[in-house]
Amino acid sequence: MNLEAFFKMSYGIYLITSKRGGELSGYIANTAFQVTSEPPKIAISCHKNNISTHIIEESGVFNLSVLEKDTDAGLIGLFGYQSGHEDEKFERVDYKLGNNGAPVILSHSIAYFECKVVDKFDVGSHYLFIGEVTDGELLAREKDPLTYSYFRNEMKLMAPERAPTYVDKNKLKKFQDENQQEEQNKVEVSEANKKDLGDKYICTICAFVYDPEVGDEAMGIPPGTPFEDLPEDYTCPICAAAKSMFISDN
Ligand code: FE
Repeated sequence: MNLEAFFKMSYGIYLITSKRGGELSGYIANTAFQVTSEPPKIAISCHKNNISTHIIEESGVFNLSVLEKDTDAGLIGLFGYQSGHEDEKFERVDYKLGNNGAPVILSHSIAYFECKVVDKFDVGSHYLFIGEVTDGELLAREKDPLTYSYFRNEMKLMAPERAPTYVDKNKLKKFQDENQQEEQNKVEVSEANKKDLGDKYICTICAFVYDPEVGDEAMGIPPGTPFEDLPEDYTCPICAAAKSMFISDN
């Protein structure tokens, strides 16, 4: 089985939200798709162990914001990788309450849909919720949506562990070691050219790559800073993991 075959499936990137009483929830998802047009229905796949899943189950509603291509990685980090109080996350973004009472994220959103859950299927690790669209709006006609391939190939991010499309990093690495010697060689050549600044380091939580040539503008680290010289309280700009959670890509 070639795990990389899965990387050729295409998806969008969405922010799915819900609300139970006064409790707001939101998370980044790529597995959402329209399943019927009359009436319009959207399916989403949610991990059974996620709080958001229980909130959607109990409230019977969810909203889905379509993120723009130029979405700030910080927004994806906030709702995709960082744990913490959901209310604090919502304080850091623009949102409104939809007609179904659940929040609708407006930051970096180009369209949204409000949905009422009409079906739920147990698919093993995840539930597949079917939501009938009860409302929706186009927010930015001229902007393109963020796609999963752009998220993975250009933003260099990986699906978190509970995402339906998660690929085990160890299994993938084993596969790549066995089958992609050419890729390895390219990496070695580029590393040889950058030896003076030391290795790139990869966040083991979200796969963010710290490149000493580039530095980390979001965290105030100038270009040309070797990983070893980063302050001890440096954290991943995407998922807030500690410096100790990074490994050399060498
Ligand atoms: Fe990270």
